[in-house]
Amino acid sequence: MRIPFIAGNWKMNMTCQSGIKLVEAISEGMGDTDVEVAVCCPATLLHSIHDALKHTDIKLGAQNMHWEDSGAFTGEISADMLKEAGVSYVILGHSERRQIFGETDDQIHMKLKKAFQKLLTPILCIGETLEEREAERMNEVLETQLQKNTETVTPEEAAKMVVAYEPIWAIGTGKTATPDQAAEAIGLIRKWLSSKYGDTISEQIRILYGGSVKPENTTEIMESEDIDGALVGGASLKAEDFIGIINF
Ligand code: PEP
Repeated sequence: MRIPFIAGNWKMNMTCQSGIKLVEAISEGMGDTDVEVAVCCPATLLHSIHDALKHTDIKLGAQNMHWEDSGAFTGEISADMLKEAGVSYVILGHSERRQIFGETDDQIHMKLKKAFQKLLTPILCIGETLEEREAERMNEVLETQLQKNTETVTPEEAAKMVVAYEPIWAIGTGKTATPDQAAEAIGLIRKWLSSKYGDTISEQIRILYGGSVKPENTTEIMESEDIDGALVGGASLKAEDFIGIINF
């Protein structure tokens, strides 16, 4: 059985002070839940947020990571540094990293392998642009990303990963994919995973939807049996909204 998972992506927002206040409010307000919850905060906040989460069930996530262990990579952060800060999850291949910072599928594949090696759980983000969707290329785009990003990922590793389907046209735009659109894409992703790894493994992989998720649309998104949770950007920055999503 897959445990529902709601992860907040703070992107380049919050400071230590405001971040601590936010996680305190979330942990106070969310009550008992069967949903697994994580917050993925900026790197400079990781240690402080880890301390603030100590007596809660909320997990800590990072937003990016380099594929090498150490070296001359100015501005980058290694898996060991994330582990030392108490990180459990790491978002890899977010569309903002792919589009704004030119991350390639090969780099994302190397990051994924490093995350597995260091026992971090990757949240692999994939998704199509509006042009690709309108040109009816969604299937091809998702399959290419999956194929390249998981190239040498073993079945044992794959079973542990989280995949987030994030249509780029729905991120931060207020436009949400309809439940049918999200379910169709996520069904396709699970089918692809099953063709590579078999049914037993693909049934273990949690697949999230991401793109303008809010308290008001979470219930209908979560109705699809293939959708195991949400990766939440904007709405994860307000305790009330994030709690509303967790308690959908
Ligand atoms: C995201 O950044 O992963 C995201 C889904 O953002 P938003 O919820 O703001 O669309």
